[in-house]
Amino acid sequence: MKKSLFLFLVGSILPAMAQENIFPNPEPIKTISAEHYRSLPGTDKTGETTPFIPAHFGVYLEKGTKAKWGFTKDEKYGGGGSCFFRYLPDDPGDGKKWRYNMLILGNDNRFRGSNAFRIKPNTDYVYSYYIKGNLDMIDPLLIFWPEEKADDSRARIDTRKGLNRRIPLSETWRRHSGYFRTPDNAGYMALALSPSLGKPRDAFWIAQIKVAEIPAVIKRETASRKFSVGVYNVKGKENIQHWLKQKKIPYELVNTLKNESINKYNILFLPDLKKLNPADAGNLDMGIPPMDFASALLNFVDGGGTLIMDRGVLGFHSVFETSMLTSDDSGLMSGRLSRGKLAAYDFSGTEPKTLEQFVRLAEKTTMYVVPPELTDATLGDQYLRRSIGISSQEKARRKKELIDAARLPAPHFDEKIIWCDSTYLKNDAQVATLMENCRKLGFTKVLFQANQGYFLFYKSRHFPDSEMIWRKRYNFDVLKSAAEHAEKNGLKFSVYIAGFKQFFPAPGIDPEITAADRVLLDSGAVTMKHFTDRTEKELYGVRWMCPGSPSNQQRLRMVCKEIIEQFKPDEIVFDFVRYSLGYEVPCVCDRCLKAKAAFAAAHLKIAPAELDREFARSEITALYSNLIAECKKLSPKVLTGCYTMSSTETPWVLALPFDRHYKYVSTRLSPETPMSDVRDLTIKFQKLFREHAPKVQFIPMLSSYDFKSGERLYAECAHLSSVLNELKMPKVMLYYTYATLCSDRVVQEKVNPEIAPGLSRALGGAWK
Ligand SMILES: [Zn+2]
Repeated sequence: MKKSLFLFLVGSILPAMAQENIFPNPEPIKTISAEHYRSLPGTDKTGETTPFIPAHFGVYLEKGTKAKWGFTKDEKYGGGGSCFFRYLPDDPGDGKKWRYNMLILGNDNRFRGSNAFRIKPNTDYVYSYYIKGNLDMIDPLLIFWPEEKADDSRARIDTRKGLNRRIPLSETWRRHSGYFRTPDNAGYMALALSPSLGKPRDAFWIAQIKVAEIPAVIKRETASRKFSVGVYNVKGKENIQHWLKQKKIPYELVNTLKNESINKYNILFLPDLKKLNPADAGNLDMGIPPMDFASALLNFVDGGGTLIMDRGVLGFHSVFETSMLTSDDSGLMSGRLSRGKLAAYDFSGTEPKTLEQFVRLAEKTTMYVVPPELTDATLGDQYLRRSIGISSQEKARRKKELIDAARLPAPHFDEKIIWCDSTYLKNDAQVATLMENCRKLGFTKVLFQANQGYFLFYKSRHFPDSEMIWRKRYNFDVLKSAAEHAEKNGLKFSVYIAGFKQFFPAPGIDPEITAADRVLLDSGAVTMKHFTDRTEKELYGVRWMCPGSPSNQQRLRMVCKEIIEQFKPDEIVFDFVRYSLGYEVPCVCDRCLKAKAAFAAAHLKIAPAELDREFARSEITALYSNLIAECKKLSPKVLTGCYTMSSTETPWVLALPFDRHYKYVSTRLSPETPMSDVRDLTIKFQKLFREHAPKVQFIPMLSSYDFKSGERLYAECAHLSSVLNELKMPKVMLYYTYATLCSDRVVQEKVNPEIAPGLSRALGGAWK
């Protein structure tokens, strides 16, 4: 349900182009006199400016705005100066969050485009700029003008489509980037930045603006390279060197983390990040934005590199998310990101048994040259939002949220469910500790992972070949142990099943075929065998079993039956109740295509454009309706539930006949997800369900996608409890996940002391 990190880029199909900056005054160093600017037709005459302003820049100020803007040498990133925008003391200030104010980059004439810079129509571009400021946020906007109507302000196209919105600012220079495709017929463009309102004198500065066509991703030549392994030359490297020497794996010490230093290797060992060499681009203490070294590391992984970090580095939540790494029994945690891999273990401890094999495999992977701009605009953008250097306003806002929430009545819930992943658990003792912790924290029910794709976390009578790798390795039946310990601790036991997502190669399943796969199949480039025999690498995170396949469905039915009979769960929750590409993009394997043709013949009124959606709806609804009925037949009391994504659902998905539908009402800590979301989203979803599926019980989920303290979780629970009361909804909540409560988010034994007391207070627990 998570792992949004696994971005699969379209880079390899992008056209090969030069990556030349087409922005006319990037640094910005060229200036024109303010007098000259004012004499130009159509420019904004209301704002105060410096005597010289950067050429090709302009503003649009909403009536009443008092602001000053222009060129300054006092604040710069690399170049000769920057363009700034500052609210003046007599600005009317707050009252609303935004006014229609903009600093326009690349055009001085507000909404007429003949002075804007030239672009090609129907072309992919990337943009980036460095920005700092003590305003809360910036909202980017792209403005395009048609080739023939550059001077027609009404012919322009304003769009925020695909852009990240409301990006927080900090007092450190940081790079923001994004990518876009130009519309048909577009000949000119400008990039506008709308600042949120601020206090008098709040300002932002911008420099090093780049707009370039997105170049192609190409294979990297590694033939001339001497070593495939690099070790970052900082403290903590000694054990790695010792070990590499023992295994006769040649390596080189790397003195900086710049792209050009690290991109020649397949594998990079990273003992530490907190002590960057002065030569590195990036260290907050040195006033250089951390995005620089982070983007170099991300670019390395984006190009297929394997980054092996010390576990200590994982404290760097700003750079990598630990929850994406799964652990093997020798202590090596690994996961995929884009074309490459991330791994981590304790460099000071003993060497994990599986590390050598891991390195040998990584040595052979194909490497790509990915333009750093592309990495920044895709992978980098996600990390930008992690809170490296939160602005003081943002800190104040969060503090205020906590204080406000503390005034609410103490939270109360009748049922408190916690989502637990089985992949982390290796023995009965760990499960025992987990259950005890959950009870002490005040949870009343555990929701345990039953499968990972084809593989099962329990000993199956029907599918002995699908025992989880974990189970084979540890000879340990996770669900059996979990059900027993749940009972001992007075916790209700329930399971979740991830329908058709496939993580590992599995014998005999029918794979889902996507439209892209279909093209390959029809061209004769591959046969079905290619899809049934996919390796773990080819499968990870994206691949599905065909949800329409009768044998896949039968298998899922049998798994539900076994689970109900063996563990008598209170509830079965289904995750990934959809196809790999969403709810309405059906599989196009031979069987599904045939079924779709039959469906079309039986429903002649459905327009061809609606066919996929209607067919998907019919298939998914039939599958889960039958499954629910069978579960109820086996155990009339068993509850059925499903998790669906919060923003992409269609009304028919809401109406799937589960007893319960789970949806997030809290995820991250970013400014665009304020704590008031807990309340607002609960109201929004409850209303949607009442409208489309009055019988379904909507259960709100809280999560810690970003680290959340106990105090924060208490506040979220207080908001949730009060809105549940207000809406007269059942007092039920689900927290995702147990892993995020643990100190290192991986070893599931020690609950983080910064979380436990607050959460326990919120849930009426007995944590000491
Ligand atoms: Zn299919």
